[in-house]
Amino acid sequence: MKLVRYLILFFLIAEFSIVSVQAADIQGVRLWRSPDSTRLVFDLDAPAEHKLFELSNPQRLIIDIDSATFSAKTQDLKLDDTPVIRLRHGAQKNGRLRIVLDLKEEVNPRSFSLKKIAGKPDRLVVDLYEKKQQTIKTLDALIESLEQPSKRDIIIAIDAGHGGEDPGAVGPNRIYEKNIVLKIAKNLANKVNEQKGYKALLIREGDYFIRLGDRAEKARRAQADLFVSIHADGFNNPKANGGSVFTLSRRGATSKMASILASKENQSDLIGGVDRIQLDDKEAQLKKILVDLSMTRSMETSLDIGGRVLKEMGSVIRLHSSRVESAGFAVLKSPDVPSILIETGFITNPAEAKKLNTLAHRTKVAKAIFRGIDSYFSENPPEGTYLAWRLNGGNSVKYTIASGDTLSSIARRYKVSVAQLKKENKLSSSNIRVGQILLIPAI
Ligand SMILES: [Zn+2]
Repeated sequence: MKLVRYLILFFLIAEFSIVSVQAADIQGVRLWRSPDSTRLVFDLDAPAEHKLFELSNPQRLIIDIDSATFSAKTQDLKLDDTPVIRLRHGAQKNGRLRIVLDLKEEVNPRSFSLKKIAGKPDRLVVDLYEKKQQTIKTLDALIESLEQPSKRDIIIAIDAGHGGEDPGAVGPNRIYEKNIVLKIAKNLANKVNEQKGYKALLIREGDYFIRLGDRAEKARRAQADLFVSIHADGFNNPKANGGSVFTLSRRGATSKMASILASKENQSDLIGGVDRIQLDDKEAQLKKILVDLSMTRSMETSLDIGGRVLKEMGSVIRLHSSRVESAGFAVLKSPDVPSILIETGFITNPAEAKKLNTLAHRTKVAKAIFRGIDSYFSENPPEGTYLAWRLNGGNSVKYTIASGDTLSSIARRYKVSVAQLKKENKLSSSNIRVGQILLIPAI
């Protein structure tokens, strides 16, 4: 009898080990390009272990996957404008699959696995970060351009939710939230930039994924005065409709819908692609940040701005809730930048999806959002901004010429014309000298 038991046990173990080495098949490959990195996503029909390493001369990145096959088509991958020249693959000994990326240049690679979630299969994600970081350069240039004594622009960071691997909610006729909200965000950015005294910073400019924590971080680095995250979510009941505005809550959600939407939004990192370790890090950081008292003030400001935006939105669209709701949205957890999240409607509601798909409707919504934002900052302009200066009577400002300055560069910086500068300072030519004091006219 004992022998039989051992035999059964043996077969069970054997069976189990056969299951665990079952080959995974790569069934799809997608590529997402962001301003400073390229993401490759491999869809697998089962979880698989992988190893990643680099080889040089010529530069290559190798991805080895234990016992796997490759049946995905790769000819449609748009590799132009990425560091990848070519993607090759081949079967090796012991059923191992080797994927080779031939590279144009050295990159900082990172890879991780994502478990099946929300209709997405098991995935292997490979991020190639470029060594020369384009975005940081643009951000630094923006910050530099904003270092204007006493008349700087108010910076509105506009975040189009989701992107890349994370489509957000999906409406009728496969309308994706990520595409609609990017359009609204760009529209809003135009409205912001058209108004003197404001500058927009688009957190996402194309179809790629950004981690929730990195969105707020980008806004903070640019010293934004406000962070606005734009969404158009879904609900399992297609009748759900109307726009709403949310702020971060530290004490749980103010309504059931707020709590559902927050947990949906917070899934973005898992759908779009962040590994667990990165998430845990962020959680720990966020807990620290949340006890910081500096957050209280920016939360009050968020509520004030949110209320004004909601009121303006209510004049052009139906509202889901007539007050600003709060819930634990991860994307709003920035300690020092007032932050709001706007649901511009329910993309799962056929009538609203149809409207959101038109430029006229999106423009109307973007204008209303900006009216709400402007109403707050016109009354409460941060110190040192053009709006604060205008509120104080708009007296001319003194500026001391520094080396490298020209009349036209100063004129550009203060948004006045060279002629106005000359007139205010009674200059007959464009010659200026270092240390000379100019009066910047009030216009
Ligand atoms: Zn969303």
